Amino acid sequence: MRHVIIGNGPAGVVAAETLRRLDAHAEITLIGDEAEPPYSRMAIPYLLMGEIDEAGTYLRKDADHFARLRIRLLHGRVAAVDTGKGCVSLTDGEVLAYDRLLIATGAHPVRPPVPGIELPKVLSCWTLADARAIAASIGTGARVLQMGAGFIGCIIMESLAARGPQLTVVEMGDRMVPRMMDEVAGAMIQRWCETKGVRIRTGRRVVGIAPAGKALRVELDDGETLEVDALISATGVKPNVAFLEGSGIEVAAGILVDGSMQTSVAGIYAAGDVAEAIEFGTGRRVVNAIQPDAVEQARIAALNMAGRPAALPGTFIFNVLDTLGLISASFGQWQGVPGGEAAQLLDEAEYRYLRLAFDGDRLVGANSIGHTEHIGVLRGLIQGRVRLGEWKTRLLANPLRLSEAYLARGIAAVR
Ligand SMILES: Cc1cc2nc3c(=O)[nH]c(=O)nc-3n(C[C@H](O)[C@H](O)[C@H](O)COP(=O)(O)OP(=O)(O)OC[C@H]3O[C@@H](n4cnc5c(N)ncnc54)[C@H](O)[C@@H]3O)c2cc1C
Repeated sequence: MRHVIIGNGPAGVVAAETLRRLDAHAEITLIGDEAEPPYSRMAIPYLLMGEIDEAGTYLRKDADHFARLRIRLLHGRVAAVDTGKGCVSLTDGEVLAYDRLLIATGAHPVRPPVPGIELPKVLSCWTLADARAIAASIGTGARVLQMGAGFIGCIIMESLAARGPQLTVVEMGDRMVPRMMDEVAGAMIQRWCETKGVRIRTGRRVVGIAPAGKALRVELDDGETLEVDALISATGVKPNVAFLEGSGIEVAAGILVDGSMQTSVAGIYAAGDVAEAIEFGTGRRVVNAIQPDAVEQARIAALNMAGRPAALPGTFIFNVLDTLGLISASFGQWQGVPGGEAAQLLDEAEYRYLRLAFDGDRLVGANSIGHTEHIGVLRGLIQGRVRLGEWKTRLLANPLRLSEAYLARGIAAVR
């Protein structure tokens, strides 16, 4: 059996290792286009904060790891997939035939169409190469503007802030992390960041960037102009699917997959930031670009590629974020559902917030700040689709009784 995996990030690596565990004799080729050993983007913030060196970002620390597992690591870029002939072609002309193919090509950062966005001092924070550029240009006292305060943006902000710059963050949404947090939580995170010395402008857009000597002059849509030494663009990512044009593999935002992670073409699978999978709870398709999901999707894909049927119960939207030391979390349908009830507990002074969203007597989503002790229980109740019965009324009266509710109803449901 010839397994070819395109992309050597966390999804590609876990799939290759899973395949080897299941089949000692298969040919496994793992193709990556970055000039580094397989590494984790998640570790980049720790690199920028000086907590680890570059080798600390590598997914496997032993240099012989892949050779020992007889996984062929191929440096190259796949230009096209021929699903009829069952082969992939690389930009250097090499052609590889496959019996099973996994596409785990991840995503790339997108930048808004702002004049000057291509200037050299406008940086992304996505690859190790980006991290090197940031380390070279941002130090104590540097004037930095970051565009975007989403989930990844907030993680990047934390690692930038640790480098001691004068940092301004501009977010076009009406609050921070708008796709993960409600208005109350987004405003609380903003207030926290401001107390830590980061200037935050929400509801604002960058409309122009121009060179100003060695610096950049940045103009916002309310007319404010700022002179900065660097601009970090963190305005979202898009799946790497361009090379699939004409392949017959169905793509919407990402590659459409079923519960087994198979694409519209039999024998071809997709996993990680490039895949658009079925969401737990809503049944909608989502690209859930976080590492735990990438790895779990890859494991399921590999099982199926090796002939062991397996299915994902659905991608569960669950994010925990550390923003300059403030821990927030969002779960499932945190916005609530039509006709559903909600319970809320707010302590502005102590930066603690809990909001529970119910559908009938089931918890379907939540936002929390502080309350880290409840994260496991919240996840268990939502992902377990636990029927709360009379415990719903008790939680509406006092959301802090979550653990009791889980003991009374969640454990019983598991049994
Ligand atoms: C700064 C930062 C912090 C993050 N922090 C977190 C966090 O705290 N928690 C979390 O869950 N997630 C975090 N993420 C997101 C997480 O890194 C991604 O979800 C994860 O990397 C997805 O893994 P993947 O294997 O799908 O894709 P990737 O890691 O992107 O790997 C895909 C690889 O395939 C390569 N490739 C693409 N196209 C081709 C081609 N045509 N031919 C060959 N190779 C190709 C790419 O260059 C890349 O090397 C963070 C990301 C960043 C940038």
